[in-house]
Amino acid sequence: MRTRLVLIGSKGGPAIRPGGPSPTSSLLEIGGRTIVVDCGLGVTRGLTDAGVNLKVLDIVFITHLHSDHVLELGPLIHTAWTAGLATTVRIFGPPGTRDYWHGFLQAMKFDIDIRIVDEGRPDLRDLVDIIEFGEGAVWTEGGLTVSALRVDHPPVTDCFALRFDHAGASVVFSADTAYFPPLADFAAGADILVHEAMLAEGVDRLVARTGNGARLKEHLLASHSFAEEAGQIAAAAGVGRLVLHHLIPADDPSIGEADWTAATRKSWAGALTIASDGLVVELADESSA
Ligand SMILES: [Zn+2]
Ligand SMILES: [Zn+2]
Repeated sequence: MRTRLVLIGSKGGPAIRPGGPSPTSSLLEIGGRTIVVDCGLGVTRGLTDAGVNLKVLDIVFITHLHSDHVLELGPLIHTAWTAGLATTVRIFGPPGTRDYWHGFLQAMKFDIDIRIVDEGRPDLRDLVDIIEFGEGAVWTEGGLTVSALRVDHPPVTDCFALRFDHAGASVVFSADTAYFPPLADFAAGADILVHEAMLAEGVDRLVARTGNGARLKEHLLASHSFAEEAGQIAAAAGVGRLVLHHLIPADDPSIGEADWTAATRKSWAGALTIASDGLVVELADESSA
């Protein structure tokens, strides 16, 4: 059974700019399941561009409730519904996910009610199962195991790295985190570690452009990891491949793949992928390995 990872949206932070990439979301196909991890702006278009039929949307995981990870969760489910979704979608998210969903339903009440009556659609409210999770074992089904680790992303306390294991294949998402050594144990031996990353030389230019300078820089430094630190985690965990994701900055024309690679190579000599929107990472079929 093949494992495929598609980096749907690759930038950190919710703002988008002309020609730039989209906020964070990923598609993980593992153990025959189609799993969406995080729902930043653009996730719906990105999934359809990756060939996913929204009608059979099944499992969604949200790492934390920052908008660059959750803004398009409601619109994704609603769009799947209008595309013909008739089976339950399970949404796994941190505490507060249920409130988000109920708020979204309230915001869209007029449209949802009218489509049920006017178009004979099933009630969207009955098609979603919200499972709020904490650290530890999250879900096991059909040989797929998902576990969560609380990471260091102040001031957010409920932010979780996720590990997906199926038949010897394993993929770990760091979520948003400052350098956090326990993540190396959590990701030990994984085939793929998807880790967030920031590049020091881009941060000053980014905060100057965004306009809320000092406070934004303080937040970035306290709650995110530099590329070199992501490399340190990958090396300590002994993963098969490191994927740098949730890039900060992601749309600075003077920073390219070579800069990310150079920074990461200070600490990581193994297989390396720098995310871009729509990039596919395949894992060899374990039965042929
Ligand atoms: Zn983020
Ligand atoms: Zn965040």
